[in-house]
Amino acid sequence: MSSKIKILHLEDSAADAELVDYELKKGHIDFDKRVVDNQLQYEEMLTQFNPDIVLSDHSLPSFNSFMALEILKQKKLDIPFILVTATVSEEYAVEIMRYGATDYILKDRLQRLPSALLNSIEKNLLEKERLAAHERLSFHMENAPLGFIEWDERGFAKSVSGQAENILGWEAKEFIKTQEKPFWPVYEEDVAWVDKVMKQLTSGEMERNKMQYRTRKAAGKVIWCEWFNSVLKDENGQVKTIMSLVQDISEQKQAEQEKDNFLSIASHELNTPVTTIKAYGQLAAEVLAAKGDTESLFLIRKMGAQIDKLTLLIGTLLDFTKIKNGQLDYDEDFFDFTETVKEVIDDMQKTSPLHQLINIPGPQVTLYGDKNKITQVLTNLLANAIKYSPDAHEVIINTFLTQTGIQLSVRDFGIGILRENQQHVFKQFYRVTGEGQSTFPGMGIGLYISSEIIKRHSGKIWVDSCVGKGSTFHIRLPFDHRKEPLPEKEIHDMIAFPAIGGEQTKLFFS
Ligand code: ADP
Repeated sequence: MSSKIKILHLEDSAADAELVDYELKKGHIDFDKRVVDNQLQYEEMLTQFNPDIVLSDHSLPSFNSFMALEILKQKKLDIPFILVTATVSEEYAVEIMRYGATDYILKDRLQRLPSALLNSIEKNLLEKERLAAHERLSFHMENAPLGFIEWDERGFAKSVSGQAENILGWEAKEFIKTQEKPFWPVYEEDVAWVDKVMKQLTSGEMERNKMQYRTRKAAGKVIWCEWFNSVLKDENGQVKTIMSLVQDISEQKQAEQEKDNFLSIASHELNTPVTTIKAYGQLAAEVLAAKGDTESLFLIRKMGAQIDKLTLLIGTLLDFTKIKNGQLDYDEDFFDFTETVKEVIDDMQKTSPLHQLINIPGPQVTLYGDKNKITQVLTNLLANAIKYSPDAHEVIINTFLTQTGIQLSVRDFGIGILRENQQHVFKQFYRVTGEGQSTFPGMGIGLYISSEIIKRHSGKIWVDSCVGKGSTFHIRLPFDHRKEPLPEKEIHDMIAFPAIGGEQTKLFFS
């Protein structure tokens, strides 16, 4: 737009046209105006003069404002249009505004014209920018590798991008067509939990999430998809829209499956010879002891200790692959939790002379669950506390009763975990990277297995940590998970130690 506003004025009265000029000048509008009074000139000027705005009287000898507006529409000219007329009924004003006029001004109130003209031009520009931005967004949506779906507050699709159609293998109309239930082509086995999450999103209880589940395409094929959902609320906090981005992760899932299969086969294949070596080692130790060959016996025992470590590693890998295949067996009964904690601590203390393991036991408690698996969790937490605090000398284990079970916390004074890494430590193969971290051996699956075991007992596990000050890993378990799952509220009630360090430490649950 040049600095002068180009006005095309449809007016058959020279006096009225001058009056308009007068008001515009009074309003300090810098303009260049052409006045026309018939359709032919009007159409010519639209192309030759290329106006920024049209001002139109209502009725001219052979032409009127409706026809003038209609011509703009036919020519697809997005130019603001103000009706400037002597008299107008309210119905007519409403009608012409509905028809696309930007504003209307009565000739006896022309002083309003300058501001109305500027507003109309600005409104038109903003609308053009909005449309351009929308077009750009649509272009990206259609061309990005991610599919895009917009849902309403009930979970019905409002718009579905072409890419989402490609990925999910369903046409947009399947999603959008009016039906009783929202259309989510979820694979049968995943329906229950996906429904639950979608309810949390549509109710606004959850504002954003990332989830992976299987989808059945129209042709029947099942694919894995990853979804990024975010909820938009109105000013009253009511859910307005849920925006979802989706991508096909079937190949990634396939690769994960192959890796899991490999780990499963490798750990099984390693297990048998290592068990045999261990048995031969024990036999050799007995023979050497009988012969009184103390020097060789010392060496074979050293070897035995390393074989035990290897057996533990293979056992961890086996557990991992069993969890992944849903095959980890649980052997549950009532067991003395307090005594179990003491046994684990005593065992660990024997092999960790540099750290003092301080047990602050609560009252004697019996839990229902798999004692060996819970032992495994405790061993893992203690082993980590020792491993990740090489310069400290104490680890504190604190147990206390809650309303529905127990809480146990293992506190170390070691390297700690950065806030942004804390939420990842329970994920499979996750190991914190960074300066000095590579000096700590490990596979990054101990906490994953622990969290799976705790989940299976309807408990919770989380961490509270500060870099340079140490970490506290907490677990909560119900007395009998068959009867009483841990109430969510209770988790937040109390933690064994105040947050480590000055900063407010967030809790992350597995
Ligand atoms: P790893 O075999 O690597 O120790 P885990 O699953 O037990 O595997 O732990 C995952 C990661 O969490 C570790 O690699 C480490 O970076 C971090 N971590 C676990 N426990 C602690 C701790 N007590 N202090 C600091 N970092 C820890």
